[in-house]
Amino acid sequence: MIKEKSKGLLIVISGPSGAGKDTICNKIIEGMKNIKMSISMTSREPRKNEVEGKDYYFVTKQEFERAIKNDEFLEYATVHDNQYYGTPKLKLDETINSGTSVILNIDIQGALKVKEKIKEALFIFIMPPSMEVLKERLIKRDTETKDKILERFKTAYNEINEYKKYNYIVVNDKLEDAVEKVKSIIIAEKCRVDRIEDIYLNTKEEFIHEGLIDKEFKNDDIVI
Ligand code: ADP
Ligand code: 5GP
Repeated sequence: MIKEKSKGLLIVISGPSGAGKDTICNKIIEGMKNIKMSISMTSREPRKNEVEGKDYYFVTKQEFERAIKNDEFLEYATVHDNQYYGTPKLKLDETINSGTSVILNIDIQGALKVKEKIKEALFIFIMPPSMEVLKERLIKRDTETKDKILERFKTAYNEINEYKKYNYIVVNDKLEDAVEKVKSIIIAEKCRVDRIEDIYLNTKEEFIHEGLIDKEFKNDDIVI
């Protein structure tokens, strides 16, 4: 058997609010092995269906500022409603070095900070099929007040222009297609030569044991 060995990927996923980032990330985590979400810390209020430690670590602004002082974040930013959102760096390196990939679902400001610090990170931008559809999805999701939806919608116009700073863009029209595309990008990236640390080839003895070659085999014997 020939086996490749590589570190996990650090995958950054961004896109305007309502584009479908959470939905796509959940499907990726369900459907792929050795991959997990980074859980961000935020000072915003939890929504009624959100779970502490699963969706976010919910803290007060003071607690967040204390964590900034303690240098606990890979990146952090003020996103919607002047609230803090940040990626804890604890155990991130350890997880990636062990071969597990980590997805960061973060905004563009955070993505650019990660890009400065971690050159080999993979950047994917999720785009809605149209602004009309984006608005409909935000309204249908029914997690924000009308004012907040409007604010997120306005922010989306600026965010969409930033897609060129990413490595890949995926339009989330049909959900299954978008999930398939993100999965394919991750699989392809993991096969890149510059990401693979080592290729393990079996020893000659193992090939002999498996009956693939005989004892007297020399490279010159290969005939097709
Ligand atoms: P984001 O995390 O980017 O803010 P969500 O994943 O919360 O976006 O998706 C916003 C809303 O749109 C949710 O109600 C979700 O169920 C819905 N949604 C996501 N992707 C699709 C899709 N491809 N087609 C239709 N609805 C979608
Ligand atoms: P929401 O309030 O809808 O959960 O998230 C709002 C925005 O914050 C989304 O664009 C999301 O990508 C971003 N976000 C979530 N966690 C982080 C984080 O740790 N850092 C940064 N920079 N943005 C984040």
